[in-house]
Amino acid sequence: MGPAESGSSIEDQGLGKVAIVGAGVAGSAAAIRFAQRGAKVTLFERSVFPREKVCGCCLGAAGLAALDAIGAGESIRDLGLPTKFFRGYFQVAKASPTATQLTEEKRSRVPAVRIPIRKGISLSRAELDQHLLNLAIEAGVQVRQPCEATIVAEAGESVSIDAGTGSPETFDLVVVAAGLTGRFRQRDAGDLRWVETPNGPMGLSAHMSRDEAKEIDWKLESGEIQMHCGRDGYVGIVSLPNGNLDIAAAVHPGNKGPSGVGGGKVAIQMQTLALLLDSGLFSSSQSRKLRHWFAEVAHWQTTPPLRRRRLSGRGRIV
Ligand SMILES: Cc1cc2nc3c(=O)[nH]c(=O)nc-3n(C[C@H](O)[C@H](O)[C@H](O)COP(=O)(O)OP(=O)(O)OC[C@H]3O[C@@H](n4cnc5c(N)ncnc54)[C@H](O)[C@@H]3O)c2cc1C
Repeated sequence: MGPAESGSSIEDQGLGKVAIVGAGVAGSAAAIRFAQRGAKVTLFERSVFPREKVCGCCLGAAGLAALDAIGAGESIRDLGLPTKFFRGYFQVAKASPTATQLTEEKRSRVPAVRIPIRKGISLSRAELDQHLLNLAIEAGVQVRQPCEATIVAEAGESVSIDAGTGSPETFDLVVVAAGLTGRFRQRDAGDLRWVETPNGPMGLSAHMSRDEAKEIDWKLESGEIQMHCGRDGYVGIVSLPNGNLDIAAAVHPGNKGPSGVGGGKVAIQMQTLALLLDSGLFSSSQSRKLRHWFAEVAHWQTTPPLRRRRLSGRGRIV
């Protein structure tokens, strides 16, 4: 019986061979933890690092505490800038609140709020993932990268993974840490399957260089996490240690943008983003520059519409 079925802890059952699919924060942290507990760990990651991905680049106090628990907190704090407060701008639709009708006149604004938060950090997501992977290697984890893993069979006490070599390897436990956009085919994997719920917002992020931010005169206070929220989504901005701004947004994919705006899906997301940011913080000339940067200059990372996914079926694969 697998650990998740019996309810007893993994440690109680002896760790054996553990496979972890995905070297994002969750996968690398789990790999470090299992290796520290004496497991023979193999970590599969399909992409080449360092790699950018959609992320707001903030690690909160709870995340740092979790990293402290695996001995990674201190070196990760060294990679970041402290975050100390949250400044939020909120848009409220007065009337006709559908996105298509959300024109400037119909939006009202509430004053920005400034809320102190428990100390966290902002840091490059690419650096965080690379650093955790390095710590996993130091802890004795074997890394297969780039290597897309597929569960091919679950039999009795073991699970087989095909890493594209044609000869599947067998593990006592498989941890799926493949993220929201992870592909994870499950040929012959019993009754395990993804369950998907309807589309959520689309994720977007980009880095604005220090010089571009200066040109727009977009300043953040030291320690600030800036958020702009409206009914079509939110945009979060933080300063990164190299002086760039990380701009990350989750925007509802169903909207058609303000009236009169055409273009493809990404163009619509850009318009929605610009509207969200038009929260009284910027002058009209700043807004113009921002819209230009969004549409013409920024190199956007995007996710497909975010879906909540969970595995259903027996609890052998966790
Ligand atoms: C707009 C936005 C802003 C966000 N801001 C923040 C923030 O500020 N702070 C924060 O903590 N979180 C933030 N998040 C959430 C954060 O990005 C995710 O929670 C986090 O990335 C999840 O980490 P993970 O390790 O579970 O998955 P991921 O980081 O997605 O890692 C999964 C890994 O698995 C790999 N993989 C997938 N399938 C396979 C396979 N079959 N074989 C091998 N490898 C595979 C992928 O290549 C990937 O590297 C934000 C998300 C969005 C959309």
